[in-house]
Amino acid sequence: MSDSPQALAALLAGASHAVVLTGAGISTESGIPDFRSAGGLWETYDPMKVASMNTFMDDPALFWRFHRPRIDMLGAVDPNPAHDAVAELQRRGIVKAVITQNIDRLHTRAGAVDVIEVHGSLDRGRCLRCDHTVSMDELCARADAADDGVPRCDCGFQLKSGVVLFGEQMPIEAIGAAFDAAEAADVMLVIGSSLQVTPVSQLPGVVLARGGALAILTESETDYDHRCSVRIHEKAGPTMQAVLTALDA
Ligand SMILES: [Zn+2]
Repeated sequence: MSDSPQALAALLAGASHAVVLTGAGISTESGIPDFRSAGGLWETYDPMKVASMNTFMDDPALFWRFHRPRIDMLGAVDPNPAHDAVAELQRRGIVKAVITQNIDRLHTRAGAVDVIEVHGSLDRGRCLRCDHTVSMDELCARADAADDGVPRCDCGFQLKSGVVLFGEQMPIEAIGAAFDAAEAADVMLVIGSSLQVTPVSQLPGVVLARGGALAILTESETDYDHRCSVRIHEKAGPTMQAVLTALDA
């Protein structure tokens, strides 16, 4: 098992169908706290409770008191060098697909295309009653104009963002696309995911079962650590920039 950016670059350079899978750890370097770690909003609210479908349905004012500032927080951060590197690897044709557990849209803002967002994303607001959709700007404007902070559809029902909530069904299309990408991959590079949440936690196993190779770049441990070809315990941004440098050498 190797642990250098150069080894990761060599693994990617030799791949015919590399796929990247990212989790919260890639965005902490942009200043977005991982809700499993301490800090900020997540200490004030229990995310498992407040970011749940039950709370959205039963107490939308509580839900939006939590969710509304989070939209501003996510809008105020920028992609970091790790997001930039992933987009560059995709532009070069080395990475064929990008799968993410993040809802922050930082991969897309960094220039990645067709990002598979398995936990949804903050792309637009939608009414669960009449299926009307609005832009996030419109959703925020409606929330800010409401006495109780709840953005409402023209039909009167509370609007929801595209983020998948606890207790809500996962987006079937994105999950299917993620498994298709894993089935096609001969290399999977995991960045910033501890691989503890299903079904994403199953994806590296799909790649390994078909004889593909696994590379993991996280600061924390994962259950797949002993099955990696490359295992790097470093920050994502500097490491991925070093990978690009190695590819150029
Ligand atoms: Zn509606």
